[in-house]
Amino acid sequence: MIIIMKKNVSPDQLQHIVHWVEDQGYRTHVSKGEERTIVGIIGDERPLDPNQVERIDGVERTVTILAPYKLASLDVQPEPTRVPLNGLQVGNEQIALIAGPCSVESREQILETANAVKEAGATALRGGAYKPRTSPYSFQGMGLAGLELLAEAREATGLPVVTEVMAPEQVSLVAQYANVLQVGARNMQNYNLLKAVGATNAPVLLKRGMMNTMEELLMSAEYILSCGNNKIMLCERGIRTFETYTRNTFDVNAIPALKARTHLPIIADPSHATGHWEYVDAAALAAVAAGADGLIIEVHPHPEEAMSDGLQSLKPDRFAELVPRLRAVAEAVGRTL
Ligand code: PEP
Ligand code: MN
Repeated sequence: MIIIMKKNVSPDQLQHIVHWVEDQGYRTHVSKGEERTIVGIIGDERPLDPNQVERIDGVERTVTILAPYKLASLDVQPEPTRVPLNGLQVGNEQIALIAGPCSVESREQILETANAVKEAGATALRGGAYKPRTSPYSFQGMGLAGLELLAEAREATGLPVVTEVMAPEQVSLVAQYANVLQVGARNMQNYNLLKAVGATNAPVLLKRGMMNTMEELLMSAEYILSCGNNKIMLCERGIRTFETYTRNTFDVNAIPALKARTHLPIIADPSHATGHWEYVDAAALAAVAAGADGLIIEVHPHPEEAMSDGLQSLKPDRFAELVPRLRAVAEAVGRTL
């Protein structure tokens, strides 16, 4: 349930309702919008009696939220959440551009890529140091050495670092190096990991699982929000379907459908969504047209030698050529880049 307060509600009345709700055993989330203040009631499903709530001073009306997620819902917070990233507020008109290799592989590789994507106009550098691979025999990432190289690349370029954390016990280490903690598709429902990133105040890039619904993605975001971290960017990275010509099927629908339900910004990952570098441009342009707040794109100076995801990685030149095209689409839909 949410409680919509009267336009002229006083601070005392607001404080009273918050205490009253909390005395009943619930948590509250107060959202002060330009028009109205909303008190979200967070807790289990036992309903409060709306008639009783509506008799309290300062309350205009109550609305029952049917969605199983609350804090992630637009009903509880109608204003968009903005996640700070390199001077940008992701979720604003300006579209964020996160780019870099799938994996950090060497000093030369990450520095060359970081410089190139910076030059092309990227907002942040991506690169995995801990890699979730389908095969235990595939390259598993450079680990701590990879984190150190990412920090060096940040030092050299000024680009903040987005990197994946795979396990709850890694969170404190990765958070020392990363500006944004990435929770990968395979870990979207690793609830202990969600709680661990929720306990930090680092921004989180939460990727949709390849076999998860949008509602499940929002429930995973709810875990992080309910631990007190609201700096979440949701990421649509393609879902598994019967199609075989592409690695995944880019669910462009998810962008407007999520935007209709949540205040959290949406990033699109056209690299994993398509799995082929030739299709990345089209999917990236479509994502911007559909209202994405940012993109995360894999870029590698020598994709043919990449230790992971070379087939879907753009060469730096191709990425640089894509940026003005993205900007043109962004401007066509009232955004900037
Ligand atoms: C990645 O970003 O390289 C990655 C492993 O992505 P996902 O979790 O979406 O598969
Ligand atoms: Mn990858």
